[in-house]
Formats: sequence, structure tokens, C-alpha cells
Amino acid sequence: MPEIDFKKKFCILGSGLSGIAAIEFLLAQKASKIFVSETKKFENLNVETKKFISNLPSFIDCEFGLEHNDTCLEYDYLIISPGLAPDSPILQKAKQKQILVLTEIDLALSQSIKIIGITGTNGKSTTTAWTAHILNSIACGNFGLPLCQAILKNSNLKKPFICELSSFQLTHSNYIKPNIAAITNITPDHITWHGSWENYLGAKFKITALQDSTDWLILPDHELFWPLEKMTKAQILWLTASAGQRENAAYIDENNNLILNIKNKKTLICNAAEIKLVGKHNLENALIAAASVYLTNLILLDELRQKLISFEGLSHRLEFVREINGKRFFNDSKATNPESTMVSLEAFDDDLVLLAGGQDKMTDLTDFCKLANKKASSIILYGQAAERFKDNLMKYGFPGYLQIVSDLEAAINVAYTKRLEKNILLSPACASFDQFKNFEARGDFFKQIVNNL
Ligand code: ADP
Repeated sequence: MPEIDFKKKFCILGSGLSGIAAIEFLLAQKASKIFVSETKKFENLNVETKKFISNLPSFIDCEFGLEHNDTCLEYDYLIISPGLAPDSPILQKAKQKQILVLTEIDLALSQSIKIIGITGTNGKSTTTAWTAHILNSIACGNFGLPLCQAILKNSNLKKPFICELSSFQLTHSNYIKPNIAAITNITPDHITWHGSWENYLGAKFKITALQDSTDWLILPDHELFWPLEKMTKAQILWLTASAGQRENAAYIDENNNLILNIKNKKTLICNAAEIKLVGKHNLENALIAAASVYLTNLILLDELRQKLISFEGLSHRLEFVREINGKRFFNDSKATNPESTMVSLEAFDDDLVLLAGGQDKMTDLTDFCKLANKKASSIILYGQAAERFKDNLMKYGFPGYLQIVSDLEAAINVAYTKRLEKNILLSPACASFDQFKNFEARGDFFKQIVNNL
């Protein structure tokens, strides 16, 4: 990481979460030559951003409602937002002029801190929060609290920051060197933005690009990740299906115990039945969280175990809400596509009412219908997508009870009063925007209705 001279001139592209965090960080470092270029008009910014910008010291110049232009190239450092397209003209020009382009994360790394970096297509937030919970440390990055702000909030820079990293952040960041890095899994996602599957994969693999032999890299033992063995300098710990031959591995043994085998020394962490979160995918997340913390050597095994099994999960991700009269309600509002709903369906046997629907993403439903045939005995559909889901389920011969109702509240009532199944799962497989502001509002509404039953 090149040393940053905070007396020089900084241009910040975008006043989103990361832009604001960068401004706060620069002010804390006593930088005084700062320019903010925001393509949105001031009146179109959200209330908090308007307030933040209005309260900035007068030496900060801001420009709104214009494309990033050559004015931005008169600065020594360009701080870019992770959403900026990789082929943006301003980026090309900045590179030609040899302006140092940084992300907010790169900027934060000017401080001497330790990082556990977690990326992957699914499970990033859960694993990040779980790791932070065990270590009593801060979950940050793509998790919602930018790394710059996490540093400003925390006077103890000795504890590792648990940093969730998106493929966008990794694409643009060139100085990330986690002491411990983990990739949960990789499946095709955001391919349009990245331009190709190879670019997406490359962005995820960048998490280890600067690691050295003192660092660790945690990876699924799957052929997709095997090439990393040659590419990384870090020590690899593999997430394997069984004890196998790997010198460093994390796995679940035949007695359902979570085991870490490091340098061929086996450590029993806990039994899978002790973990509060349901689903096989969450056992994978648990293994990564446990392994990451174990490798830091910062806490005793007993404490690690206690904290691992006390984690209750994040809201809206297969979240257990309540049991009433033997019926168990789960809120999985975060499942906004059929793939996520399928991951959750895998966590149940067939004693299940699935509540699904909302705004249709028009995704292919073949695999979803085939799995639903095996895992759900009733499906109650609501919202804009209901008819298409029903047509597809019937096409694939759904053998259970199928009903369309007007909205989510009606779906809950049917599931509770008219069906006999033990488990009732909201896992919509659709966006929420036809009836709610976002998936959080949908999940909160579900919990409120269920808690009032
Ligand atoms: P992310 O931050 O990567 O979006 P989350 O932890 O918020 O991930 O989980 C989102 C959804 O991804 C979950 O509701 C679940 O359906 C799925 N998921 C979580 N962990 C895994 C995993 N290890 N493997 C596959 N899918 C997972």
C-alpha cells in the first residue's frame, strides 16, 4: 500500500455510503483539499445525505447533477464508489494520467489494521456477523458499515475487523491483504456488471492476490477453487466433506461434529445439533466462522465454542420467529430469487407450508418446482408473481395443496388456520417491491403478524 499523503488533493466520486465514509475518514486525517463529484442532483439525494453534505466544512467543494468530468482529474487521489462500472471513461482517463485510484477500503488500509475478509456469492453477511460475534469484533465493509467508519468508531485497532467484501469492492480495490480470507462459494451473479463469468471469478479471487505465507485462505474443496492452490501464497484451509487427505481442513464428521484439522492436529469444535441456525448451508458458514477465529489464536477454544453456538443468525435469513400450537414460523424474506428459496427448502423435510410470491423476477422456475415437489406439502402464493408460479408448479406436477391469496397477511392466515403442517416458511423467491419498500419491511411485517397471532 503506497503511503497516502493527506496534505494532497482528494476527489471523491459519489456521495453514497462509501463516499460519505471516505469524506469522514479524510476529515479525521486532517485532509483539507477535498472535492466531491456526485452525478445525482442534490434534490434527489436522500435526507441523511443532504444533511451530511449541508453540514460539511466550507473548504470541501461539491458538484451535483453532472457526469464525472475532467475537473476530477486535477486531483492527486481519486476515491471511487464500488458501483462505478469498471470501464467508466473517468477511470480510464485517471489511469492514463497516473492518478492513484483508491476505494474507501483502500483508504482505510492506510491504517495499520488486521482484517478477516469474507467474500462469496451467498452467505457473506451471515458468516461476517457470525465471525464478529465470536470475536466480539466489528462487522463491516459490504455489511453496511464501511471500513473507514468502523475504524473511526473503534479505538482498539488491534482486534481484527471482520470485513464483508463484495465482488464490486474487490474489483476496484488493489490493496486488500486480509490476514485471513474466506470465500464461502461462487455461483454466477452480477455477470452483466463484470462483463463475464471469468471477470466475476477473478474479482472474487482477488481477495488473496496480496496475501503472503503468514496469511490464511479458507476455501471450499471444489474444483472451481483448486487453481488457487498455485495462485496464492497464503496457507489454505479447505472446507471438505470428510476428514480426507488435506493437511488443513474443516469438516463435519460422521457423528455430526464440526472438526478443524490444522497441520494434521484435529480439534473438535462442537456438534451440529448445538448450532441454533438451521440448514446445511449454515453449518458451512459456521465452519468458516469457527476456522477464521481459531486461526487468529485470539480466544480460547471454550469461548470460541460458546460464542459459535450462541449466534442467533441475522434477521430475514431463515430466521426462527415463533412456535404457536406446535407450528413453527420462519422468516426468510431475504430470499428474493428461487435459488435462495431452494437453499432454505433444503433445510426442511416435507412437513412444510411455503409462503411465496411478490414481484416476479421472471426467472426460470424448473429447479425450484422440482425441489418444491419434494420439500413442501402446501404452497400458498400471493402477489404479482402468484399466477406464473402456480402455472409452473402445476406444469411440474406439484402433488400438494396449492392456493393463491391476495397478500402476505392472507397467506399467513391460511397457513395457520387451514393447514396442518408443522413448519411455516416465508421464503418468497421474489422481490418485495409490489407490496413492500424492501425485503426488510416484508420480513418485519411477517414477524409482526405472526407475533400477534
Ligand atoms: P450474502 O450477504 O452473501 O447475500 P447472506 O448471509 O445474507 O448472504 O444470506 C443470503 C441467503 O443466501 C440466505 O438466505 C441463504 O438462502 C443463502 N445462503 C447463506 N449461506 C449460504 C451458503 N453457505 N451457501 C449457499 N447459500 C447460502
